[in-house]
Amino acid sequence: MTQILDGKTTAESIRSEIAAQVSHWQQAGGPQPALVAVLVGDDPASQVYVRNKERACKSVGMGSQVIRLPGTTTTQELLELLLHLNADPQVHGILVQLPLPAHVDSQRVLDSVSVLKDVDAFAPENVGLLVQGRPRFLPCTPHGIMQILARHHHTVSGKHVVVVGRSDIVGKPIANMLVQKDIGFGPELANATVTICHSRSLDLPSITRSADVLIAAVGQAELVRADMVKPGAVVIDVGINRDGDRLVGDVDFESVRNVAGAITPVPGGIGPLTIAMLLHNTLAACKLQDANVPLKSAV
Ligand code: NAD
Repeated sequence: MTQILDGKTTAESIRSEIAAQVSHWQQAGGPQPALVAVLVGDDPASQVYVRNKERACKSVGMGSQVIRLPGTTTTQELLELLLHLNADPQVHGILVQLPLPAHVDSQRVLDSVSVLKDVDAFAPENVGLLVQGRPRFLPCTPHGIMQILARHHHTVSGKHVVVVGRSDIVGKPIANMLVQKDIGFGPELANATVTICHSRSLDLPSITRSADVLIAAVGQAELVRADMVKPGAVVIDVGINRDGDRLVGDVDFESVRNVAGAITPVPGGIGPLTIAMLLHNTLAACKLQDANVPLKSAV
């Protein structure tokens, strides 16, 4: 029978573990970990995401603040704000909610977040450390994928993993993580043979059909159909697409579940894990910045 990889329950477990770690950390004299989210403009989806992140922080005993700025905010104003947040010892994680308005130089703004407070792990230095197999922070959505695989005892060592999508947020980092020798989950959840597909890949179905583990991060509703999946494969659906009132993934869940050995649903798959791993990174950032903790990997 196909295993449904329940991200909601997995995320709840991770969140209660983090709550216990936060409490333990503070009892040992550590400061309360605190996340600041910067939200520019009034994009409704971004407002929901930021509110959920704020609530999640509070639910595990972390401090949380949202700085809401008008859509007319300039790049320079954001850079000045980041200078201030980078220097504030009571701020441990900084998250700039994307997308920023079109007139803002998003790359420059993201590049200005302190590498020790970069809980999204977007900064070039943190990306570079991950590529070298010695991550400081793991980016949240790919980290969620690792957690769901680890906690359901799926391995990738020596197997063919096909990642569909090459974004900096999901596709490239998850491919980078799975190809390493070991980034903290043990050698069985590493050492994969990884193929990255994208919009220019020729004959996508023939590539996905050879995947033992198939990860879809495309942003196209139900692109992956049953005839594109190897029987017994583990299918991870990162996509979140709106179809009228329904949220659907990049995988046609109803047909693919009959072929796959294991599959994440949408909603309730990778989505809840992304926020759980943001909490993980905020605690890790707080520990890294604490003078008593040596500066080393926080994975
Ligand atoms: P993106 O738009 O940055 O990248 C999409 C990628 O898909 C591109 O690399 C493109 O080359 C590839 N692609 C597009 N059409 C394709 C096709 N027909 N065949 C093969 N490849 C194709 O997307 P992203 O930011 O990685 O997000 C992907 C999806 O994941 C979106 O639905 C997004 O909402 C979702 N997402 C979910 C979470 C979560 O927490 N669950 C987090 C981030 C993104």
